[in-house]
Amino acid sequence: MNTINNKKIAIVGGGPGGLTLARLLQMKGANVKVYERDFNKDARVQGTTLDLHEESGLKALRQAHLLDEFKKKYRPGADKLIIVNEKAEIFFSDHEEKPEEDFGSEHFRPEIDRGPLRKMLLESLQPNTVMWDSQFVSMEKEGGGWLLHFKNKASAYADIVIGADGANSKIRPYITGIKPFYSGVSGVLSVEGVYNSETTVPKIHNLLKGGKIMAFGGGKCFTVAAKGDGDLAFYVSYKVDESRLRNVDFSDKEQVLAWFRSDFAEWDNMWLELFENAETTFIPIPIYSMPLDQTWQALPNLTMLGDAAHLMPPFAGEGVNMAMLDALELSDCLYNENFSDIQTAIASFENQMRKRAAEAAQGSLENGDKMHSVTLVR
Ligand SMILES: Cc1cc2nc3c(=O)[nH]c(=O)nc-3n(C[C@H](O)[C@H](O)[C@H](O)COP(=O)(O)OP(=O)(O)OC[C@H]3O[C@@H](n4cnc5c(N)ncnc54)[C@H](O)[C@@H]3O)c2cc1C
Repeated sequence: MNTINNKKIAIVGGGPGGLTLARLLQMKGANVKVYERDFNKDARVQGTTLDLHEESGLKALRQAHLLDEFKKKYRPGADKLIIVNEKAEIFFSDHEEKPEEDFGSEHFRPEIDRGPLRKMLLESLQPNTVMWDSQFVSMEKEGGGWLLHFKNKASAYADIVIGADGANSKIRPYITGIKPFYSGVSGVLSVEGVYNSETTVPKIHNLLKGGKIMAFGGGKCFTVAAKGDGDLAFYVSYKVDESRLRNVDFSDKEQVLAWFRSDFAEWDNMWLELFENAETTFIPIPIYSMPLDQTWQALPNLTMLGDAAHLMPPFAGEGVNMAMLDALELSDCLYNENFSDIQTAIASFENQMRKRAAEAAQGSLENGDKMHSVTLVR
């Protein structure tokens, strides 16, 4: 189906899924633009670190000829884990036995910060592939394709549109009206995390040792991850009524601290220090999942991938890996000579994506349930 190379392809969203797809399509000669709402390439990509899996995220990078570059940018040892309770008593640590590097093993899940991952993918693209400051707002059918409109008042035509615009996708409603459901768990994410953790939160820093901490207690959970620049990222999660977090103003540090003292009353003060020393932006994240049995009719010129297609809880570390594998499978389907037309290629991609993502989402929901029920006692 080489006719695809005569088509203009618009990818909406320059996260890991959208950028991996752009790279893989360009390697096959496609005419691709990525429309991203961030103002420029230097927008700081924030949030937790990501572990890539051999059978999905790393597989996509290998196909994209980016594994060697990844090896320069990932953080050896950052996947090492310590499990503690709310008093920071250690129940498990793999710091001694885990090898620093074990590429090719299904158990090796190297960690990379979101910023370097995005930078690596961006640098692999042809110049001017990404249209920054392009927040998609709407589109309508035009000719055989779509006319897209952006918040900055620009418009662009594309023959094929791919929604890679994450959890609150604005492309998804053009494909299906199916909405995600609340998983019963909410999180609070420190967006910037804690800068310079060695001096600001030394107790946690020493426990982290450049890796990750998972802390469990009374059905609540803390996830802390060292970042390559000396900062750390963290979020907490627990089973709670969705309305609880709506009653807290997370832009007000005093309210955040009062909420934490009340809802995490049994937790040692060292965890409170994380909130006290974190930069001011916190976001409440009610954790949603797409229904596992979702389905829709394939369209001839529009599809989606990653969180836009199959948002799932982050408790099995699958989200980014699924997004990158989606990119690989979609690029393969679009260039598969066995499909008579693009709609058939999209249908085949979506069928395999939905099945695979539903399995990952089920695992993530089950993990989430276990993680938020456990109490570690000596
Ligand atoms: C607290 C937390 C922890 C997580 N931890 C992990 C983990 O450890 N491992 C893991 O695999 N996954 C984890 N995830 C999930 C992971 O972040 C996502 O699954 C992954 O980022 C999905 O990639 P994506 O490319 O589909 O979407 P995104 O990464 O969300 O990228 C979407 C892109 O689209 C852009 N965009 C959005 N709307 C528009 C618009 N209207 N117009 C133009 N551009 C737009 C955004 O700016 C962004 O660049 C976690 C998620 C959360 C919330």
